[in-house]
Amino acid sequence: MAYLLKEATLVTLDPVSIERSDLRITADRIVERGPGLEPRQGEEVLDLGGRLILPGMVCAHTHLYSALARGMPPPPRSPSNFKEILELVWWRLDRALDEESIYWSAIAGAMDAARAGTTCLFDHHASPSHISGSLQIVREAIERVGLRAVLCYEVTDRGGTQEREKGLDENLSFLRSTTETQSPSKLFRGMVGAHASFTLSNESLDYCAELMQVFGAGLHIHVAEDRWDVVDARSRYRLGVVERLEKHGALNRNTILAHGIHLADEDIDIARSAGVWFAHNPRSNMNNQVGYAPIGKFGARVVLGTDGIGADMFEEARVAFFKGRDAIAGLDADDWLRVLANNHRLASEAFGADLGGLGAGSIADLVVLDYRSPTLLTTDNLGWHLAFGMTSASVESVMVDGRFVIRDKQFSVDDQDLYEQARAVTEKLWAKLRVT
Ligand SMILES: [Zn+2]
Repeated sequence: MAYLLKEATLVTLDPVSIERSDLRITADRIVERGPGLEPRQGEEVLDLGGRLILPGMVCAHTHLYSALARGMPPPPRSPSNFKEILELVWWRLDRALDEESIYWSAIAGAMDAARAGTTCLFDHHASPSHISGSLQIVREAIERVGLRAVLCYEVTDRGGTQEREKGLDENLSFLRSTTETQSPSKLFRGMVGAHASFTLSNESLDYCAELMQVFGAGLHIHVAEDRWDVVDARSRYRLGVVERLEKHGALNRNTILAHGIHLADEDIDIARSAGVWFAHNPRSNMNNQVGYAPIGKFGARVVLGTDGIGADMFEEARVAFFKGRDAIAGLDADDWLRVLANNHRLASEAFGADLGGLGAGSIADLVVLDYRSPTLLTTDNLGWHLAFGMTSASVESVMVDGRFVIRDKQFSVDDQDLYEQARAVTEKLWAKLRVT
């Protein structure tokens, strides 16, 4: 398809730029940008009447497998700490997932993401009762909705050696499928997924590092989300959590360390020297009562994730802003613009293409916002609009790789039907979780 988007207000995040202009999109890319572009044959012309266009949002850490958890039956008893939150809630849910519920979780999660203007997801998947082939199921679901994603399977020793092996194999197969020279994937990439230091043996970390090396892939892992992870690494291995990863060769520039709340300064230094990404997930951290991450110490490579609480990056950035204010962290609204721009950098590095710009040559992953403000929007105050006004409610259209996923608030897929099917599958999933 070819489109000429007329009279748009083009907004990029770092450096902030706001400009009234037209955009010409051919196939998957923006091919021309400037005022007064003339239509060419075969192009559909859309007059945006000043509406904002932003690069599509990127979620740097999520779990689509939890998309059907909203309102689910309560655990057998109330968790009293983070480990019990995992054992009583999430590890019961992920073990209950089968082929069907993996697919419909991913469909529901991807639709939520699209509606919020998020076009690219870094997903961290777990389904221990159905490991082999699970990432292909997640991929098919995301493909159906029309988004871009970087997938991995969470390797862990919590279910024994056999499940650990299957997890490693699943990462291997998916990485292979996305990098095959015959048909390399355009919309999907792989990472090496791992749960967290406290559920990974030395042998498992070595295997993960080997996969990272073979494919040049990053590790996607939770670190120091709770103090327990730090205590475990120190008592069993006499190492810091990140120090342990480094010792096993499991750090590189493509790596995402999620949370990092309780990291010691020495561990942060090691991670920064390796050039990793730190994924901050403020809503999840507040919900799990695990503490506030030392964002100020993480350096320039901080990204934002939702940890499975939807994929609305406008919402996550707003909560990040307010949590930072509450914690007197010395961060202001512009800092979160820079973090959201980092999310674009993370995606651009993963796909080897520009996913954060709106210039000629950038990939056409973008979101159209009908954002109406009584006050002026300028390059100097965009961050404050993000903190106090701009929400995903104004998302009108979403384009991924030059194709409309949502246009004028209408999905390209039959969203009503998909939600109905997801609800039917949810009933079966929840039946497994009910305590009798
Ligand atoms: Zn997570």
